[in-house]
Amino acid sequence: MTYTLSDIQQILQAGWLQKTEADPTLEHLLFDSRSMAAPAVSLFFALPGKHRDGHRFIPELYAQGVRQFVVSQMVDTQKLPEANILKVENTLDALQALAAFHRARFKIPVIGITGSNGKTVVKEWLAQLLSPDFDLVRSPKSYNSQIGVPLSVWQMQPRNTLAIFEAGISQPGEMERLEKIIRPTIGVFTNLGPAHQEGFSSDAEKLAEKMRLFERADTLVCEARWAPKKTATQFFTWSKNGEAADLKVLKIENNKTGGVKIWAEIPEVRGRKTLERQQLLSPETIIGAEQKSEIGNRKSEIAIPFSDPASIENALHCWAVMLLLGIPQEEIEQRMLRLEAVEMRLEVKAAIHGCTLINDAYSNDLASLRLALQFARQQAGTGKLTLILSDILQSGQPGEKLWKVVAEAVRTQKVARIFGIGTEIAAIRANLPATMETVFYPDTEAFLEKIAEHDFQEETILLKGARAFTFERIARRLEQKAHKTVLEVNLSALAHNLKTYQRLLQPGAKMMVMVKAEGYGAGSAQVAKLLEFHQVDYLGVAYADEGIALRQSGVNLPILVLNPEPASFDVLWRFRLEPEVYSLPMLDEIAAFASAGKPLGIHLKLDTGMHRLGFEPADIPVLVEKLREFPSLHVVTVFSHLAASDAAQHDDFTRRQAAVFSEMFGQISNALGYKPLRHICNTGGIEHWPEFHFDMVRLGIGLYGIGGKKISSQLQTVNSLKATISQIKTIAPGETVGYNRNSGPLTTSKRIATISIGYADGLLRLAGGGRFSALLRGQRAPTIGNICMDMTMLDVTQIPDAQVGDDVTIFGENAPVQDLAECLQTIPYEVFTNVSERVKRVYWQE
Ligand SMILES: *Cc1c(COP(=O)(O)O)cnc(C)c1O
Repeated sequence: MTYTLSDIQQILQAGWLQKTEADPTLEHLLFDSRSMAAPAVSLFFALPGKHRDGHRFIPELYAQGVRQFVVSQMVDTQKLPEANILKVENTLDALQALAAFHRARFKIPVIGITGSNGKTVVKEWLAQLLSPDFDLVRSPKSYNSQIGVPLSVWQMQPRNTLAIFEAGISQPGEMERLEKIIRPTIGVFTNLGPAHQEGFSSDAEKLAEKMRLFERADTLVCEARWAPKKTATQFFTWSKNGEAADLKVLKIENNKTGGVKIWAEIPEVRGRKTLERQQLLSPETIIGAEQKSEIGNRKSEIAIPFSDPASIENALHCWAVMLLLGIPQEEIEQRMLRLEAVEMRLEVKAAIHGCTLINDAYSNDLASLRLALQFARQQAGTGKLTLILSDILQSGQPGEKLWKVVAEAVRTQKVARIFGIGTEIAAIRANLPATMETVFYPDTEAFLEKIAEHDFQEETILLKGARAFTFERIARRLEQKAHKTVLEVNLSALAHNLKTYQRLLQPGAKMMVMVKAEGYGAGSAQVAKLLEFHQVDYLGVAYADEGIALRQSGVNLPILVLNPEPASFDVLWRFRLEPEVYSLPMLDEIAAFASAGKPLGIHLKLDTGMHRLGFEPADIPVLVEKLREFPSLHVVTVFSHLAASDAAQHDDFTRRQAAVFSEMFGQISNALGYKPLRHICNTGGIEHWPEFHFDMVRLGIGLYGIGGKKISSQLQTVNSLKATISQIKTIAPGETVGYNRNSGPLTTSKRIATISIGYADGLLRLAGGGRFSALLRGQRAPTIGNICMDMTMLDVTQIPDAQVGDDVTIFGENAPVQDLAECLQTIPYEVFTNVSERVKRVYWQE
């Protein structure tokens, strides 16, 4: 089932913008210059985007060897002599149409999953549970968007006997498109929660939109309460509350090993009837269909190694699907016992000898390996990248082909050396350049024995192993032993927040992101690299040193320096940093510097009411005269700063600031004879003042999930400050806790936990004495006594199962940073930037 470029031209009814003799067979669909694996067999779709127009990347991709393109605008073919270029009306439509065409060629059962939560876990669990019976293909990770779904579906191969795809939407109208591409025969609806509230006027509208995925499905699996009364679709429902359902849960009990046992009743008749309607399930694919009728009305049970409510729901979805597919109950029981947690995290940690370790615990398949390599290259910048890789289990591809493809991905991301672990991986050698360093070990033990003999120095190490290889043991050896208090930074949430703000931008407005003060405490290099990856237009820092650090870690975006010191002009010039200029004396100095043959792009700061730095209206005549005098100074942007962009009571003042700004800007640009970019909005301004977005905005705190009323429910938590319990004691009445006996004598006996964080880490003394409570095992534990430099005592009397080693969240998910900020009589900005340098930053992404 292969496609040549001319096949695709036919399918899409596309025009030829340029056609060469070559008509290659294409394997990969590309929409992004960074996910490139095999240029010769890739077809690039130049997707439109308000902030990232794919057409921009065509020259870069061409330079990397891509020759096949689908575009919707004219492109300069002169510079692309060997390219084949198809022209369509809309490239996203074309990508989706191609995927839909591909999908339509398969007559296998296709499970489509949607719902607010649990989509990815249900998909991954179904893959775990059904892989013994089917050669299955599934969406990689959480590929469930308008672009992710076509790429997922494109993976379908003739050998596959089952497909599982997830679909996620955020706006009305999106599901109809995804339905056409996935065309599920079996639907799974997980649940309806508050996620993506923004795009819908009511829950009913959101539910109806999600249900559109199942319009042509034969059967829909869901909890009984979601099954609408009148519909053409058949249901296979489950219930936990006694409601009538195909799979009716009778009882759920915790077992000794931390999991639960679930008893349920499965009425025979309904089940069989549903099965018969599975027209697309050919007799061969209905495994154990015969046994189905024997399940009868008997009570059945499963046990799973998880006990949280979400896992129980997810397991019930899976149980229902397995019954529907006719998997014998005995098999279901066996496989449920072995369910494994779905590890979506991709962790970045400081490792030995100045290395950075990226540990990707997600299952080791080709699609996720490509993504991990791409992420690793992005983290490494231009530095050295080492890959520690295990065999790839159950790839379904013959070894020879598999390793050829892996080698290609490895070469594309410029991996410097490979440690291969397993009995098969050595086959990759034949596909790699002779100069590449490769070392192979039969298993993880053998590698661990020799690990000390290998030199790891100042490099990025990607660890990617199938679960059976227990690579976490390698991770433990390579990680730097450090302080147990960490600031976890969720890079996926950060990217989500960025996109959320980008969606608010007026057409044409660019995005600068302020990464001063170590990226508001989150770590500027990591944050900046992610922003570069997501192609923001500009970065802003406070001092030249911060900009230099970014350049040294490989960041190439233009960088504005708010507070340059005259002495630093030369380094600004050397590191391509662009200064803010806020006064006439400073303008003179910088002009003197620039006229010595070192031209600098500058940014003029206007004071429109903040009364901090900046030119005032009265300075303008002299300013414009000087600017005419110094043509070597190029004014890149002119900007100002709003003093109260998110405070409605000062809206009139904000309007006045904007008016003053526009007036001053007009005078400057008239004098210059060209139009610099103009910008005034910070995070609050982006949300509240779309009419002042002008040419660019400057995002700051919003990136970390702190926004105003309208937007805050759409933002995700990025930073979590966590400590651990070092010791727990029971303290008798009459005793006191901590310095100066400030707790006063206890009136009753109390359990006191000492945790590994103090005011030197950023948990200030104001939070002591019970004025603040940390989050521990889902409950709040108040501080007791004074906070010490490195430690804090919590009263955990009400949390009897708290134990040494438990994580304690100071702020993060379910513990809003605003709570701590309020207690410290400050704002989230100050809390974030107060997390001290010694607290290790741990990055992860989904
Ligand atoms: C810090 C800063 C911003 C970002 O402010 P937020 O309120 O965090 O969005 C924007 N502009 C300037 C000049 C800044 O100093």
